[in-house]
Amino acid sequence: MQNYALAIHGGAGTILKSTMSPEKELAYKNGLQDAIEAGESILKSGGSAFDAVETAIIKLENNPLFNAGKGAVFTNNGTHEMDASIMNGKDLMAGAIAGVQGVKNPIALARAVMEQSEHVLLTGNGAMEFAKKVNAQFENEDYFFVQLRYDQLQQAKQSNSMILDHTEDKIEHGEKKFGTVGCVALDLNGNLAAGTSTGGMTNKKFGRVGDSSIIGAGTYANNNTCAISCTGHGELFIRSVVAYDISCLMEYKNLSLKEACDIVVMDKLVKIGGEGGLIALDAKGNIVLPFNSEGMYRASKKQNEDIFIGIYK
Ligand code: ASP
Repeated sequence: MQNYALAIHGGAGTILKSTMSPEKELAYKNGLQDAIEAGESILKSGGSAFDAVETAIIKLENNPLFNAGKGAVFTNNGTHEMDASIMNGKDLMAGAIAGVQGVKNPIALARAVMEQSEHVLLTGNGAMEFAKKVNAQFENEDYFFVQLRYDQLQQAKQSNSMILDHTEDKIEHGEKKFGTVGCVALDLNGNLAAGTSTGGMTNKKFGRVGDSSIIGAGTYANNNTCAISCTGHGELFIRSVVAYDISCLMEYKNLSLKEACDIVVMDKLVKIGGEGGLIALDAKGNIVLPFNSEGMYRASKKQNEDIFIGIYK
């Protein structure tokens, strides 16, 4: 039997200890701890990696500190458009949604796309119609309103820029980060799974979709190689096909998870200005949490080991 393992992230970016209050740091750490424990309890009792991924991400979506579900950033017209995807490494089944509004847990809807439709990715109005059909839980605008996110939108509008949550000169007080959330897990049966959920970027327009709902870019899982969930500047992560690139380096070049991650995150992405990071887990339970930004909210847990929680470099 395989030992279980899992890792989560709550976004990467310019996260500096110097701009973080002890209370806030504790709140983030508690949020990460709750989520990883929720995922672990599934794995510990013999549940699937896929269930663990969904469970941990729902915890993070329900926490307003993270840019997913409650806490999702505002679009240019003051709404929240959320993207999410989930993938099963056992059979390469996947589900994803993009640009949905009012859905409490976008990751659960992505799962429903996989399990209750013949499609992989549903967007906008169609995705909303599907959400109603499968009785997804909806919340009103008040639920998604978070003052900090609203202030960020006003700042972005003033400078007429789209704020990639971390951009240093655009946002003050250390709130520069990609707050996307994700989870990768390996269960006792040796199955891998990965998922990612996000509100995208502040002041986004025109139905912009990032990497988080793109299988192969922001999310990928394959029992033969690894499970990956990304956070960072989505456009660059899509162009780099980040998650699948790591899997390919392992599959075709026989690189280790760490070697593959180093090439993609610390070299290839850096060269094109793709700021961010990812969480990665291979079929043997090795965990790598690389990022080329100042920080990344992250946590990991291996069976019989203590929980690791990290924020800064
Ligand atoms: N990758 C996400 C996007 O571009 C942003 C993030 O990681 O926070 O939509």
